[in-house]
Amino acid sequence: MTTLRQLGERETIRRLAALLPTRPDVRMHIGDDVAVVSAGEYDFLLTSDAVIEGTHFLADAVPEQIGHKAIGRALSDLAATGGEPLWALIDVVAPPELEAERLERIYQGLAKLSSTYSLAVVGGDLAQGPVLELHVFAVGRVPAGQAVLRSGAKAGDAIYVTGQLGGSIQGKHLTFEPRVKEGQWLRQNQWATAMIDLSDGLATDLNHILEMSCVGAELAMETIPISDAAKISPSQQTPLEHALYDGEDFELLFTVADERRLAFEEAWAQANFLPCTRIGHITQEPRGILLIDAEGRRTPLARDGFEHFTS
Ligand SMILES: [Mg+2]
Repeated sequence: MTTLRQLGERETIRRLAALLPTRPDVRMHIGDDVAVVSAGEYDFLLTSDAVIEGTHFLADAVPEQIGHKAIGRALSDLAATGGEPLWALIDVVAPPELEAERLERIYQGLAKLSSTYSLAVVGGDLAQGPVLELHVFAVGRVPAGQAVLRSGAKAGDAIYVTGQLGGSIQGKHLTFEPRVKEGQWLRQNQWATAMIDLSDGLATDLNHILEMSCVGAELAMETIPISDAAKISPSQQTPLEHALYDGEDFELLFTVADERRLAFEEAWAQANFLPCTRIGHITQEPRGILLIDAEGRRTPLARDGFEHFTS
């Protein structure tokens, strides 16, 4: 008998996906930040995500922040394809002893973030279970055929990341701002050739783009933006390791065609978004990620981001 721990998250998903039915109007099946289905002049973007006590938040977490995180994760996946958020359903699993006020405060947190991005929460389900779980299913849309996928990166494209990376566990994982505005802007102006949100760590999530695009990448070590939280982390890992491997940054990682690089950087600066940093470029050979230090030494990057069941 094989356990999920032995298979790991990716192989488990691959096996299950092979069992599932599809339809001709499905543009993107399992394997991107969202599923993309065709609906006339728009494509709908479908995503779902669970936050579970003990896994995604601790029992003493601020209730409003739990709600913020549950909705924020779904919005971040919509952002990663450049989508406009529309509707969400929420399934709540909770023990009967849960204080009603705690659940109301969770909902105040999720309502606040939802309304910021005009996401209507239109229903869901409430069921009994041993620990608190929030399962969010969200729908967004893009004009037909315009979702930014993981598969569009080409050799020579510049690689960018928004914000700063690492150390999210120290607080940002509960308070992050999903990059909805930035993602839509990157799609509308057709800057991004490929995009993903950083949920499992830069190393793992860049590898998702590389695999789906059949390319490789070189990263300039000293350009990777490291957060203050990663620099003061008490763990054994270096700040750079935190920036490469920590999960739940929820920043956008995207690629821009080399010939549009300067125009893009100027436009980004004029748009008044948060900082975004060029950290490397896409290469032809699909050989994973090479990390290049200031002396030009090249080190293949181990793939050690977060993977459910094995981590
Ligand atoms: Mg994602």
